[in-house]
Amino acid sequence: MPILELENVNFVYQGKNGSSEFSLNNVDLKINKGEFISILGPNGSGKSTLLKIVSGIFQPARGNVLLDSIPVKSYSKKNLAKFMAYVPQTFSVAFPFSVFEIVMMGRTPYMNMFGYENLKDIDVVNSSLEKVGIYHLRNKGINEVSGGEAQRAFIARALAQNPRILLLDEPNAHLDIEHQITIFNTLDQLNSDSELTILMVSHDLNLAGFYGDRILFMKEGEIKMDDAKKNILNEDNIRTIFNVESRVEKSPGGDYFSVNIVPK
Ligand code: ADP
Ligand code: MG
Repeated sequence: MPILELENVNFVYQGKNGSSEFSLNNVDLKINKGEFISILGPNGSGKSTLLKIVSGIFQPARGNVLLDSIPVKSYSKKNLAKFMAYVPQTFSVAFPFSVFEIVMMGRTPYMNMFGYENLKDIDVVNSSLEKVGIYHLRNKGINEVSGGEAQRAFIARALAQNPRILLLDEPNAHLDIEHQITIFNTLDQLNSDSELTILMVSHDLNLAGFYGDRILFMKEGEIKMDDAKKNILNEDNIRTIFNVESRVEKSPGGDYFSVNIVPK
């Protein structure tokens, strides 16, 4: 039984005059527990829209999204938050919460009706802060840390939620190289040790070549290719999807791929 399933999902952004401006078409997807999947594709291909539909933020015009075979829309907010955490591509925080408070928000679904945190919540928040390397920033305001540090705070908040599925929208966009590696090693470890299912949107073909086992290539509102990374990451497919020339190299063991884009 897949942990997450999309059946013939369609979605349309309506323009001002009712015209359709962008549509996501006929998305069929089955994801099993413990998979680590990268979604790649050009700007505007519908990657973020797809994650918003999976997370229940948007309702599809047609089709179903099922978690453990149950429609996502029939989960309570609390149960959905225990099942799935979502790290959006952009975040704005109007109120000057501290980094610690932002990460503690991940514990909300586990709190009682009075919203009091207990020692376990504090432990989980502290260890999530440590996992992404921002424990020392816990008392700083979220608006007083760098973009990459804020991104790590939102990843820590998602980890504190202790979800079964983690959705990440370009989580490495603001991260320096060292923190890309530490955070992805953490995710990789959660994926292999606790069977955390990971669905990540990324622009980074190398990251997808290194982490995870399956790749979805999206273009023009459709999943054009969906396969194990060893079958997908090649020069022909990268040309078809991204319209660029590349050189793809395989590690000696065949587990990792590195992609170099070659200027025309
Ligand atoms: P990606 O994440 O692959 O870059 P998105 O899923 O964000 O792409 O967007 C897909 C398309 O839908 C884009 O052409 C974008 O302009 C359009 N779009 C995104 N959000 C909205 C919105 N809220 N209203 C109307 N159109 C949108
Ligand atoms: Mg996007």
